[in-house]
Amino acid sequence: MFDLIIRNANLPDGRQGFDIGLAGGKIAAIEKSIAATAGEEIDATGRLVSPPFCDPHFHMDATLSLGLPRMNVSGTLLEGIALWGELRPLLTKEALVERALRYCDLAVTQGLLYIRSHVDTSDPRLVTAEALLEVKEKVAPYIDLQLVAFPQDGYYRAPDGVSSLERALDMGIGIVGGIPHFERTMEDGARSVEALCRLAADRGLPVDMHCDETDDPLSRHIETLAAQTVRFGLKGRVAGSHLTSMHSMDNYYVSKLIPLMAEAEINVIPNPLINIMLQGRHDSYPKRRGMTRVRELMAAGLNVSFGHDCVMDPWYSMGSGDMLEVGHMAIHVAQMAGIDDKRKIFDALTVNSAKTMGLEGYGLETGCKADLVVLQAADVTEALRLKPNRLFVIKAGKVIAKTAPRVGELSLAGRPASIDMARDYVPPVLQR
Ligand SMILES: [Zn+2]
Repeated sequence: MFDLIIRNANLPDGRQGFDIGLAGGKIAAIEKSIAATAGEEIDATGRLVSPPFCDPHFHMDATLSLGLPRMNVSGTLLEGIALWGELRPLLTKEALVERALRYCDLAVTQGLLYIRSHVDTSDPRLVTAEALLEVKEKVAPYIDLQLVAFPQDGYYRAPDGVSSLERALDMGIGIVGGIPHFERTMEDGARSVEALCRLAADRGLPVDMHCDETDDPLSRHIETLAAQTVRFGLKGRVAGSHLTSMHSMDNYYVSKLIPLMAEAEINVIPNPLINIMLQGRHDSYPKRRGMTRVRELMAAGLNVSFGHDCVMDPWYSMGSGDMLEVGHMAIHVAQMAGIDDKRKIFDALTVNSAKTMGLEGYGLETGCKADLVVLQAADVTEALRLKPNRLFVIKAGKVIAKTAPRVGELSLAGRPASIDMARDYVPPVLQR
C-alpha cells in the first residue's frame, strides 16, 4: 500500500513520534503508528522530518565562479558587480551549465529542492538564459528551478537592457526582475519599476526585483513597487528582494511604508549572509547591520522568506547551499533567538519560501508531494543551532541522497566513547 514509510519522525510543528507513509509520489498518511508495511522503511529515530528547503533568491549563473577571472579585493557589492562585468564576456554556455549542475548536486545533498535563480540578461548574447533554461530542464526530476530575468546592469542603464530582458522572457524565463536602485537616477529607478510591473501584468508573470539593496535611507523604490503592484493587479505575486535600505530608513516613514507593503501583499526576501557581508561598507563605527526589518515585517503579516543569494561567486566567497546556515545568520542579525522566533525563521526557509515561489502541493500534510528531508536533529530549533547532516533526502517518494550521521569518537579515560551532538546535547527545555 505504501512505497516508503518513515517511522518515528518529529514534525516541524513540534509533534513527535509520527509515521509518514508515502505512496504514488504523495504523502498518503501521517499517523502515530502505521500498521502497514512498505517496500522500504526508514527509522527516523526521533529526528526531525521536514519538507525540503526552498531558496527563493539565488544566482545560479554566477555560482562556483569564485576567482574567475580574479578575486574581489575590496569585498564590496560594487566591485562584485564590476568583477561580474569582467567575467561575463568570457562565459560559455557549457561552463555555465556545468557549474549550475554541480551546484544542484550540492543542493540536493543539503535537502534544498526548490530554487529561484535570477539570470543576468545584461549581455545581449543571453548565454546565461540559454544555459539556465537547459539546466532547469535537466534538473527537473529532482529540483524545481524557477528563473527570473534580471537586468543586472540596469533595465534603462545598460545599452540593451530593455530588449535583452524581453528576449529572455520570450525564450521562456517566467519571472520579471529589476534593479531600480542601480539605475542612473531615482526617477529612472521609479520608471523601471512601473515599466517592469506593466510588462509582468501584460504577460501574466510574477515579479521579483532586487530592490533597495543599499544603505541609502532615501532609496525608497519599495514604496513605488508596492504602489505599482496594487495598480497593475499583481497583489501577492510580487517579491521585493533585499530591501536593505529599510534598515536605515526613518522610523516614521517606515510606519507608513509597511502597511503599504502589506496592502500589496509583497513577498519580502532578505538575504542575511549577503546583507551582513555587503552592507554598511561605507560606515566607520558604529556600523549598520544592513538587513531589512524582519521582525517588524513578520509582525505586520508580510510573508518573509530568506534567500542564500550567492555561493562562491564575485560577491560572496563562502556558502555551501545550506539554507540552515542562512537561517542561523538570520537569527543573529535579526536578533530573533527565542523559541518562537526560531520557529518563524525555520518557516522562512520552508513554507514561507514555498508561498513566495507559488509552489503547489508543498508541505507536510496528507496529499502533499512526497518530498521530504530527514535531519540529524530533534526539532527545528536544534536544526538551526546545529546545521546538521541531512540523513535522507526524498523526492517524489524516492531517496535521492543520503549522508551518514555525524558522530564524534572520543579517546578519554572515564568519558563516553562517542557523542552524537544532535542527540546527547538536546537542552531540557526541548525535551517534552
Ligand atoms: Zn541577488
